[in-house]
Amino acid sequence: MPEAPKISLKPTDYNLVEKNKKTLHFIEDVTANADKVQERVLGEILTRNANVEYLVKHGLKGHNDRETFKKVIPVSTYEDIQQEINRIANGDTSKILCSRPISEFLTSSGTSGGERKLMPTIEEELERRSLLYSLLMPVMSQFVPGLDKGKGMYFLFIKSEAKTPGGLLARPVLTSYYKSSHFKERPYDPYTNYTSPNETILCPDSYQSMYSQLLCGLYQNKEVLRVGAVFASGFIRAIRFLEKHWTLLCNDIRSGTMNPQITDPYVREAVMKILKPDPMLADFIEAECSKDSWQGIITRLWPNTKYVDVIVTGTMSQYIPILDYYSNNLPLVCTMYASSECYFGVNLNPLCKPSEVSYTLIPTMCYFEFLPVHRNNGVTNSPNVPKALTEKEQQELVDLVDVKLGHEYELVVTTYSGLYRYRVGDVLRVAGFKNKAPQFNFICRKNVVLSIDSDKTDEVELQNAVKNAVNHLMPFDATISEYTSYADTKTIPGHYVLFWELSLNGSTPIPPSVFEDCCLTIEESLNSVYRQGRVSDKSIGPLEIKIVEPGTFDKLMDYAISLGASINQYKTPRCVKFAPIVELMNSRVVSSYFSPKCPKWVPGHKKWNNGD
Ligand code: AMP
Repeated sequence: MPEAPKISLKPTDYNLVEKNKKTLHFIEDVTANADKVQERVLGEILTRNANVEYLVKHGLKGHNDRETFKKVIPVSTYEDIQQEINRIANGDTSKILCSRPISEFLTSSGTSGGERKLMPTIEEELERRSLLYSLLMPVMSQFVPGLDKGKGMYFLFIKSEAKTPGGLLARPVLTSYYKSSHFKERPYDPYTNYTSPNETILCPDSYQSMYSQLLCGLYQNKEVLRVGAVFASGFIRAIRFLEKHWTLLCNDIRSGTMNPQITDPYVREAVMKILKPDPMLADFIEAECSKDSWQGIITRLWPNTKYVDVIVTGTMSQYIPILDYYSNNLPLVCTMYASSECYFGVNLNPLCKPSEVSYTLIPTMCYFEFLPVHRNNGVTNSPNVPKALTEKEQQELVDLVDVKLGHEYELVVTTYSGLYRYRVGDVLRVAGFKNKAPQFNFICRKNVVLSIDSDKTDEVELQNAVKNAVNHLMPFDATISEYTSYADTKTIPGHYVLFWELSLNGSTPIPPSVFEDCCLTIEESLNSVYRQGRVSDKSIGPLEIKIVEPGTFDKLMDYAISLGASINQYKTPRCVKFAPIVELMNSRVVSSYFSPKCPKWVPGHKKWNNGD
């Protein structure tokens, strides 16, 4: 991920060594004094927000110490603060959650009631995010020297934004960041030297944005030292785009002009400042791209690349094999862990294997707490809707410096923007410590069964979607006796697959169009992040239903039991991931159907006029 520099200096007086040293010293300092820093952070948050409605309502009475805070303020979920959020969205500017003015809403990829969660934020949070970004390259430069001597080719995009009824902007955190002066007007820093001009990143048309970023990246291929995107899925999308459009890109490089499909005047102007005719480079790219195999295409086209900077932890790990293939096993580097609620931490050992990535939480970002998780070995998923915690569970939460090695916890944060003891929904495992600060493996997002890009579909959503689709089968006196699902990332873009075993009572055969209607109904029923991925980002392919032979789910049960599942407690998993099980299901498919078109999606919240 790109980083924002903190210190404004001109190229001549830029002292990289000094700046890196200062940053690493900062990390040493805050991790060595993690507990003290945490106490200070909580004290600051509570002092400045002493009079906000939420804290007053719960009776904190201006206290700013940990003990009273933990006794008085409950652990919360989005649903608990939904009323407050709605009031802010509808234009109530009183100090509801935070004493500082809410500058905008960040729309999370986590959903509630099928819509993106809205996270209120304040202006100064941009500085905290910038600070986290500014840690990344000094850390990286300890392991890979010379990164200041070339450029980074990062595929970065903005997404659509909407306005709440009260007039606040609602947009994803990265869109907010790229549009901010922290990114757009970043001062000189050899580490924020990207092949993509700002105008190409800020172009709202995703085709033109991707095309122009690839064009600039290809044109400057020799200068590129690192490549990346935020998530692995985004980087693979760029490679896929190149597969489709390399002829056009080569033509533009050969002639030093941009084809007329690129109409955005800012993009054209910015790219034309860089692009000059280069027939030799065009021939080289053409020769590489027209070879049968695209194995190692990244190192072939960008020969000086040292690593691929993309998140491959969590559900993104499904993309590791394809990235290895395209990059000829270059290191895959996961640099940071962040969310709309708050940016959390960085990976201090970025060249480690993806399976060993751990993130050190930076104690200045927010006040962290940890709810112990006792998972039933993760085979099936626990209930979806988080239940309110009992008194005892509330007392089980531990502080940052008190987590235990090897234990798993759910992350709970108290932020400067007004979330108090808020459950983020991520499960983390303690992998080690940097001084006093714990380092966490990212284990999973709670309850998510399917994910291709930033979509997160849980079991209840899937269940409801299937229930809606089954209505199409009723006229045929058919129903589904069992189902499960699978995120198929072999296709690009990946897509959801549902395995259905039918129970047929009628004699009329079911025409394919009915199953296609079922596919579309499921897609229409899924949350807005999924539908946006299908419609706007094109990062998710059409949903597929695979009808399996009768008896397939019995075979699935037999297999699970042979692996040690208990017969009494066996429940059909609503999602399968384990390769032999996917193979078993696939070997019994009798027919398959795809969604014939995209589901409906509009920017904004379904309740807002501008989103309708
Ligand atoms: P959003 O609120 O849409 O920005 O999504 C934030 C969520 O993305 C986090 O709560 C995690 O579930 C996931 N996420 C962010 N960074 C990482 C990472 N480095 N590894 C795995 N998952 C991540």
